[in-house]
Formats: sequence, C-alpha cells, structure tokens
Amino acid sequence: MDNKNIEEYDYVIIGSGFGGSVSALRLAEKGYRVLVIEKGKWFKAKDFPKTNWNLKKWLWEPRLKLHGFFKMTYLNHVTVLSGVGVGGGSLTYANTLPVPKKDFFNSGSWVGLKDWEKELQPHYDLAYNMLGAEENPYFGPADELIKELSVDLNREKDFDTTKVAVHFGESGKTVDDPYFNGKGPERTGCIHCGACMTGCRHNAKNTLDKNYLYLAQQLGVTIIAEHEVFDVLPINDTNEEDGYEVFFKSSTGKQKKKTVIAKNIIFSGGVMGTVPLLLKLKEKKSLPNLSEMIGCNIRTNNESLLLLTSTEKNPKDYTKGIAIGSILHIDKNSHLEPVRYGKGSSFFKMLTIPSVQHKLAIVRILGVFGILFKAPIKLLKTIFTTKYSTRTTVLLFMQTLDSTLRFKLGKVTQLKTVKESVEAPSGFIPEASKLAKILGKKVKAIPYSNFADVLLGTPTTAHILGGAVMGEDKTKGVIDKDNKVFGYKNMYVCDGSMISANPGVNPSLSITAITELAMSKIPNKENN
Ligand SMILES: Cc1cc2nc3c(=O)[nH]c(=O)nc-3n(C[C@H](O)[C@H](O)[C@H](O)COP(=O)(O)OP(=O)(O)OC[C@H]3O[C@@H](n4cnc5c(N)ncnc54)[C@H](O)[C@@H]3O)c2cc1C
Ligand code: SF4
Repeated sequence: MDNKNIEEYDYVIIGSGFGGSVSALRLAEKGYRVLVIEKGKWFKAKDFPKTNWNLKKWLWEPRLKLHGFFKMTYLNHVTVLSGVGVGGGSLTYANTLPVPKKDFFNSGSWVGLKDWEKELQPHYDLAYNMLGAEENPYFGPADELIKELSVDLNREKDFDTTKVAVHFGESGKTVDDPYFNGKGPERTGCIHCGACMTGCRHNAKNTLDKNYLYLAQQLGVTIIAEHEVFDVLPINDTNEEDGYEVFFKSSTGKQKKKTVIAKNIIFSGGVMGTVPLLLKLKEKKSLPNLSEMIGCNIRTNNESLLLLTSTEKNPKDYTKGIAIGSILHIDKNSHLEPVRYGKGSSFFKMLTIPSVQHKLAIVRILGVFGILFKAPIKLLKTIFTTKYSTRTTVLLFMQTLDSTLRFKLGKVTQLKTVKESVEAPSGFIPEASKLAKILGKKVKAIPYSNFADVLLGTPTTAHILGGAVMGEDKTKGVIDKDNKVFGYKNMYVCDGSMISANPGVNPSLSITAITELAMSKIPNKENN
C-alpha cells in the first residue's frame, strides 16, 4: 500500500474515556503528535437530554439511529452499562471517586509485579486533582436514609460523604476555570438536581472533556469523534518499529473507510470496546501474536443494583442531591451507595420487575407472582405513580470478593460470556437483598431489579473490568506491568480492561491513576 498521503501520528489512541484522555494529555505534554479516535459524539451541556425518556439523546444504539451516550449490553451472564462519547463513561457516570482498599493492590494477576499501593499513591493524588474531586457538601433524603441505616446497623462511623468530580462552588454561579490556573473552561456551581447520569446540563460535572481532553486539545491533540476503529495492522511484519496502519469508519453516518499511520497505539476503548476489538484482531490475523488471555478475567464489582420506589403518602424528593452523595461501608468487603436520577428520568421503570433472589428461575418467577398477591396495592402504586423518579432510590451494593467471566466472540451475537474456573458474578447477593428489604420497609417500597437479573439470574453492572489484564508473561496476561501489549512493540492498553483485580468500589479513579503511572514511564519525545 502507498502510505505517502496518509497522515502519520506518534500515537493513535482508540477511545476517549478515562484511560484514553489521560494518555492523550500526558503524551502531548511529552511532545508527541497524538490523535484520538472516538466512536461516540461530542456533547455540550445543552446537548444532554432533560430526562432519560429522550432515548435519541440518551441511548447509544446506532443501528436504531440512537446517538446518545449511554449503552446497555445484554450478555449471557451479565448486563453491562457503559458510556460512549468524547469523554467516554465520564459523560454518564455518577462522578464518585473512591480509592480501593488494600486487597485490590495485593490480589489478581498483577500481584507481585510492583508494589502497586506504594507506586500508585502519588498518581491517585494527581488523579484527584485532575478530575476536580471535591467532597460532597450536601446530603439529600436518599443519603439521610442510608445514614439512618448506618445507625440501625451500629455502623455510624462507616457512613461517609463521597468524593466526587463536581464543581460545587456557589450553586448556579458561573466562574472562570477553578482547577487549572485559568487554562481550563469555566464551571457553574452544582444545583443538586440529581441528573448527573443523564448528563449534566448545568456545566458543574467535571467530565473528561473539561479537564484531560480540554488541556490535551490546547497542546495540539486531534480528536476525531463519531468514528470507530475496526482494524490495526503492522506496516512491516518483521519490524513493528515502522508502526501500524489504523483503519476506522464513521459510526453515525456513511461508513466510508479511513486510514492513519501510528508509530504507537493505545487501546482505550473501555472493556466493551477494547476487548472485542482485540479478540477480532487476533482472530482475523491482523495481530496474531496477541496473548490467548484476551477476554479472560472479566470482573464486575460484584454489584447488585436494587430500586426502591416509595409508596408513602407524602414521600421525600429522592432526586435531590448529586447522583451518589454518600457511601456506607457495610463490612470489610461490602459497600452500599444510594444512587439517584433527576426529576422525570423514570425510563428504568420499563426495565425492572420485583426482585426475587433464588438460584432456580421457576422459584424467582413464582416469587414475582407471590409479591403480586401479597402486596398488590404497593405494586400497582409503584407501577402507576406519576412521580416515579422523585420517589425512587437505586441501591448500589458492591463487594471486593472475586468472581470472573470470559468474553468470546459470538456466532449469533457479536460478543458472548462463558464461565471461567472460578465463580461467575452472581445476580444474587443475599446481603444486598437483606439491606434492600430493611430500607424498603422504611419507605414502604418493594425492591425491584433489572428484569434480566430476575428472569435470567444474571447481574447488572456499571463497572465492567478486565479482559486485557496484566501478567508476568503472555501466558498469564495480555499486557505487562507498564501496560505494554505482549507480542507487539509500541502498543499499550490503558482503560478498564487493564484492571487486574476487583477494586470493590467504583473504578474510574483507579483507571485514571494506573494510566497516569503507565504514561509516566514513557520518555519525552526528544529523548526517544
Ligand atoms: C451509569 C453509570 C454510572 C457510573 N458511575 C461511576 C461512578 O460513579 N464512579 C466510577 O468510578 N465509575 C462509574 N461508572 C463506570 C465508569 O464509567 C467506567 O468504569 C469508566 O468510564 C471506564 O473507563 P475506560 O477508560 O475503561 O473507558 P470508557 O470510559 O468506557 O471509554 C471508552 C471510550 O472508547 C470508545 N470506543 C470503544 N471502542 C472504540 C473503537 N473501536 N473506536 C473508537 N472508539 C471506541 C467508547 O465509545 C468510549 O467513549 C459508571 C458507569 C455507568 C454506565
Ligand atoms: S447534581 Fe445536577 S448540577 Fe450537580 S453535577 Fe449532577 S447534574 Fe450537574
């Protein structure tokens, strides 16, 4: 192929989520010419939907001409929620940035490769600063409910506010960049409307397009949105130093193919982008030397998502606050966070049914009918309330305990999951169910789950991780301790798929910190 007229970059980054954005800024600072290719769209505050009933603006499903930023993927053993757009999952995430407990640094396939806790500490601090993390200063009724639970459980000391990527300042007041000595964009103080997960329309949420990507663009980084990378080929089979051809096509319009040349590649498409892409590149022999471990060690946070819709006569307004304003540490392994959507965002009512937890599907289904007979009024009130969003709190329960799955390319569906030798993430976490029942009694609510959790017995996760994990060598992982891909030169994975153990808490801060560490190992361009 004649490469004379094809644009050449030092680094091409595939995907603009947490891993991709950190990589873009740090490489530009080191003097490299960087291109970011992102499948989703650019979003400004006014582009976000008022509620999640505006499916066109909220959901990402290009086959149905839905070009929003929130994606749901139903797989055999898990339902995955993820983000798509310039800024990746930061557009839809709940801004919460906890540091994992010690176990995370001392378990999984990366154990012993470095003293992770020590090496990552300064990068966690840096990540906090870059993401504009502040302590949530306001508790809404859902946080008060969890606080009350902490008293009931005698765990008051374990109830805490969250550290979140939100500018609080003076509510509703716009100020010049409060984070980067004036180099960043202006922000407006949070108005505690609870709508963070349908996109902040008030310019208060510190999404990646307002920090890492904004600063990267100032240093000359090019971002091509609405384009999906589908192939990566070494230019010279015997010398990868010559670089790679990267092939991409429009993801929202006519699928005209384009090519650029990259000396180095960073895969940052998140687990739902990077893992299927690597599996395809290996299968179709574009990158045959990739590890056989691609797709292995997929983890969730061992989560359980349960919804409580209050049927009280005069319920409190549970939309008040930020998406996740507090956390209760239930025990050494478990955490509970109350999650909220903004006013009017009641789409999930369509996808949830009363939660019945049991291994046997027939028992679960009969259990749902049982609830219908036992509490018909409550059930009907939940279904027909016109104030679903203000009455509803989502309980996000997470555990550090480990369980894994494997992703494979499917014949019928693009992607499928299979079980690994250890336990798969379960849709049934008795502790979560117990807490939901206690809280349900307080607000006169029946706990609900995603219909797939109840009918198929599979959990729902917003925290899918792994699939291109670190290891000692190619037989144990896809990348090494510095995120370099085994089997190829000048190739890295920096996103949630590199996460090699269960953090047990929301993972974006860790993805940011680990990418910061990986980027710190790359020399400046002039020294290279
Ligand atoms: C509703 C919700 C709430 C959440 N809340 C929190 C929270 O409070 N705290 C927290 O820590 N985490 C939260 N998460 C999880 C968090 O969003 C993810 O863990 C995080 O975004 C993963 O970062 P990443 O770097 O792996 O990539 P992502 O952020 O997933 O970004 C990857 C990007 O790559 C793009 N891409 C993929 N494939 C290609 C391709 N082939 N070509 C071009 N582009 C491609 C995608 O469109 C996407 O924009 C939440 C997630 C959801 C869905
Ligand atoms: S609570 Fe509302 S204003 Fe505050 S960050 Fe979330 S969406 Fe923005």
